[in-house]
Amino acid sequence: MHKHGTHHATHARQNPHTVPQPVKTNGNGQGNGSQAMHQPVLVLNASYEPINICAARRAIVLVLKGVAMTEEENGHYLHAARIAMRVPSVIRLVEYRRIPHQTRALSRKNILLRDRNTCQYCVRILPAAELTLDHVIPRSRGGLSTWENLVACCQECNRTKGNQLLHEAGLKLMREPRAFTLHTSRHIMRMIGRSDAKWRKYLFY
Ligand SMILES: [Zn+2]
Repeated sequence: MHKHGTHHATHARQNPHTVPQPVKTNGNGQGNGSQAMHQPVLVLNASYEPINICAARRAIVLVLKGVAMTEEENGHYLHAARIAMRVPSVIRLVEYRRIPHQTRALSRKNILLRDRNTCQYCVRILPAAELTLDHVIPRSRGGLSTWENLVACCQECNRTKGNQLLHEAGLKLMREPRAFTLHTSRHIMRMIGRSDAKWRKYLFY
C-alpha cells in the first residue's frame, strides 16, 4: 500500500531520475497466460514514485531477482516450470535509484509512444501497424536517426514528403520532436494508468 514514511520527496525534486536499467531476461515467464505476460506493469522507485512501465514478464524477473517487490497484482497467475506466482500490476524497487538524467532507448516503439500513434504531419491517430517513422531531414540529405529527427508518420504523408525537406513538401510538424525523457514517460504513465484503479493511486498523488 501507499506509504509516505520512506519518502524521498525532497530528493525527488532536486535530482533528476530516470528509468531503471534494462534487465536481461532469460526464458522466465513462459507458459500459461502469455497474454498476461505482456500486460504493462507500473514500476515505482523505492520512494513510491512512478518511474517506468515494463512488461509483466520483466516485472516478474525483477521480483524473482529480489530487485523489486510486488505492490499490486493483476489477477493472473504465472505457471512456469517450477514456479507459480501472481502476476504483478505494480512493482516497487527495493533500493532507491538515483540515476543521472538520461533518455529512453531510441526505438520505433518509443517514438510511436512519444507521438501517441499520431502522424506528426496530418495529426491522424492510427494503429502502430499503419504508421511509419519519418526522418524530418531525410537521410539522403544528411538527416540522422535521432529523437529530434524521427517522427511518427502515416504512409500517405511519408509518400508526399519523399526526400524533401519540410518547406519543400509544404508540410508542418504538429510538434517539435524531443527526446523521450522521464517527463514524457510520466505523461504516458498517467494516460495508461487513468483507467486502472491499481495504478491511479500511485500516479496522482
Ligand atoms: Zn499523415
